[in-house]
Amino acid sequence: EPVVAIKGLKKTYHGEDGDKTALHDIDLTVDKGDIYGIIGLSGAGKSTLVRCINGLEKYDEGSLVVLGEEVGELSTKELRALRRDIGMIFQSFNLMPSRTVAGNVELPLLDTGADKAARAARVEELLDLVDLRDKADAYPSELSGGQKQRVAIARALANNPSILLSDEATSALDPNTTKSILKLLRRLHDTLGLTVIIITHQMSVIKQVCNKVAVIDQGTIVERGKVFDIFVNP
Ligand code: ADP
Ligand code: ADP
Repeated sequence: EPVVAIKGLKKTYHGEDGDKTALHDIDLTVDKGDIYGIIGLSGAGKSTLVRCINGLEKYDEGSLVVLGEEVGELSTKELRALRRDIGMIFQSFNLMPSRTVAGNVELPLLDTGADKAARAARVEELLDLVDLRDKADAYPSELSGGQKQRVAIARALANNPSILLSDEATSALDPNTTKSILKLLRRLHDTLGLTVIIITHQMSVIKQVCNKVAVIDQGTIVERGKVFDIFVNP
């Protein structure tokens, strides 16, 4: 059952110094339950692909179906609903410094209509999920990088998304912290039935946690398959 199905995707930027084709001939299918890694060097087109999946960037050609919907055909309102179904985490965590850990995790719940008590209960549940309950009242500046990313993961999961999209989320972390974050992603995948898409430039990330991988180079996918077949026992 595909969660993301991409066929013949093309995206060209039109800039002052000419056109730049960032993506072309992209075919990619992510099935429910995959931990799918997309790896490539800087400039390969990873961010553009992420923004197309989110509906933040328009594509020129091809089909991009996320959770059964052709993203290019969605209304603004439908796009907002789609984005609630895709939890996102980033290299820079994107936490609000003026809000506590609990306050940050609560943010996506504010426009759901849940009352204060229901939101507090959900925040507690989410902080349990990422082993950070004792930091509920701390501010982001008081946390380590790994703890900040756990907060961001809890926030990304607040509205029960079916996809977690990780955009270089471990790139600012040391190897041991990276390992513990990837273990957490694996556990969330196992317990919540999440489909996880991991964008990275680090081979070690792919090897540690992904079951499938696509290699993107100069805007297109040059290799793809099961991680075991490509990188472990080629
Ligand atoms: P090869 O890469 O040697 O062509 P594959 O079995 O990987 O062999 O691919 C066969 C066809 O299926 C290709 O057209 C490829 O684009 C498509 N394909 C394979 N895996 C995927 C995938 N995960 N998502 C989308 N298309 C795929
Ligand atoms: P990655 O995330 O893998 O580093 P990007 O998707 O950011 O790759 O970039 C892919 C290509 O598209 C690069 O050549 C980049 O310079 C170009 N690009 C990205 N964003 C824009 C933009 N807004 N305007 C013009 N070119 C862009």
